[in-house]
Amino acid sequence: MKVRVLKGSHQIGGCITEIISDKGTRILIDFGEDLPDDNKELRKENPNIDGLTMGKKKYDAVFITHSHGDHIGLIHYILDDIPVYVEEMSKIIYTLQSVFTYKDIRFQTIDMHFEEPIVIKDMVVTPYMVDHSSYHSSMLLIEADGKRVLHTGDFRNHGYSGDTFENALQKINHVDMIITEGTCLSRKKKKNETEKHLMKRAKKAFQKYDQVFILQSSTNIDRLKGFYELSKETGKTFIMDIFTSNLVAKLHDKEIPNPYDLDDVYTWITGKYRRKKIEFQQEYVIPFKKRSKQKSYVNKKYCLLVKASMLETFKKLFQKNYIDNACLIYSMWDGYKEKEEMKTFLEEVKKYGVKEIIDYHTSGHADLKTIQLLNELHASKVIPIHTTNPKKLINVLNNTILIEDNDIIEV
Ligand SMILES: [Zn+2]
Ligand SMILES: [Zn+2]
Repeated sequence: MKVRVLKGSHQIGGCITEIISDKGTRILIDFGEDLPDDNKELRKENPNIDGLTMGKKKYDAVFITHSHGDHIGLIHYILDDIPVYVEEMSKIIYTLQSVFTYKDIRFQTIDMHFEEPIVIKDMVVTPYMVDHSSYHSSMLLIEADGKRVLHTGDFRNHGYSGDTFENALQKINHVDMIITEGTCLSRKKKKNETEKHLMKRAKKAFQKYDQVFILQSSTNIDRLKGFYELSKETGKTFIMDIFTSNLVAKLHDKEIPNPYDLDDVYTWITGKYRRKKIEFQQEYVIPFKKRSKQKSYVNKKYCLLVKASMLETFKKLFQKNYIDNACLIYSMWDGYKEKEEMKTFLEEVKKYGVKEIIDYHTSGHADLKTIQLLNELHASKVIPIHTTNPKKLINVLNNTILIEDNDIIEV
C-alpha cells in the first residue's frame, strides 16, 4: 500500500489523503473545505482534482470521517460514478446543514456503519466510532496487501463518549501505519478540559443569571446535553433554535434532548423561517410549532440556543421584557470571533440586556497525552496531518515521519 497526502501535511482542515493498494485500488479519505483564515469564508470552490472531480474516474471510492465542513464540504464536486461513503448519522447532519445553509448543493452517498467492513476490490475499510465535537465521528482502518493503516480523522477522549477512542484502539490492536490529526500540536495547553468539568464551571453562570443564551455548534451533541442538564438543574426552560431542533429530532437518540419527544424542550422559530416557502415550512417548521409557545419563557427563566444570525430574537425578547438578567455563553472555537457577522453579533447583544459574555469551551481535538495513546498500536510509521506544527509529533509518537503534501509513502 502507498499513502499520499494531497493536502493537509501543514494545515488544519481541508485534509485529503489518498491510499493505493499494490494492485492499484485507489481510495480517498475526506474531501472538505479549507478552514477560514484572515477572516475569509470557508473556501468552497472546486479544487479540480483529475479523476475525482473532473476527467475520467481514477478513484474507486471516497470515505468521509465526519460531518464537519472541513472533511465533507466538497463532496458535491465528486464525479457521479465514484461511490462516497459516509456514516449514516453524519449524513443526516450534513444533509440538514445543506438544506438550512447551502441549499443549492446535491450529493449522493452510501451509508456506512460502525465496525461493518466495506470491501473495495482488494481493500477493506472499517469505520470505528470515536469521540469528537461532531456526533458519530469515525476513525478508519484500511487493510490491503497484508498491511493495516489507521486514519484517525478528528478525535479526542475528553467528551462524554471519550471511552470510544480507547475502545477502538483495543479492537484495532496493531497497525503498520497511523495517519493522525495533530490540531493541538500547535496549542500551548498540555491537557484539555473535559466536557464534564466544563459544565461544572458553566453552572456558575446558570446560577447567577435567569436567562442564559448559548452560542455553540449544533452538531456538538455533548455540549448540548450538558447545557440541557444544567437548565434542568437550575429550573430553566430549555429552548432550541429551529436548526438544532430539526437536527436532534432526526438523530432520534433517546440520550439527546429533543423538542419532538420531550415536554421540557421547546423550539424558538425566528421570523426568517416562518417566511420560508411552504414546502420548507411543512417539513422543518410546522412540526415544531406546537412546542414554540410563549409559555416556555413566560417565567423568564430560560436557556436559549442562538446563532450569530439571530439578533432579531434578542431585540424581540428585550422589547417584550423577557430579558432582564441575562448572559451569553460563547461555547465555540475562538477563531470564529474574527468573522464579521460574529463580531457584530457579540457587540450588538449587549444593547439588548445581555450583561456579560462568558467563554466556556473545550477543544474537539485530542491533547498530546491522548495522541500518545496511539503508541499502543506499535505502528512503524506515523504521519501527522490536520496540524500546523507537525514537527512536534516527533516528541509525542514513536516513528513519526515528516512529510510534505504529495509525497508518496510506502506503508
Ligand atoms: Zn477537522
Ligand atoms: Zn472535525
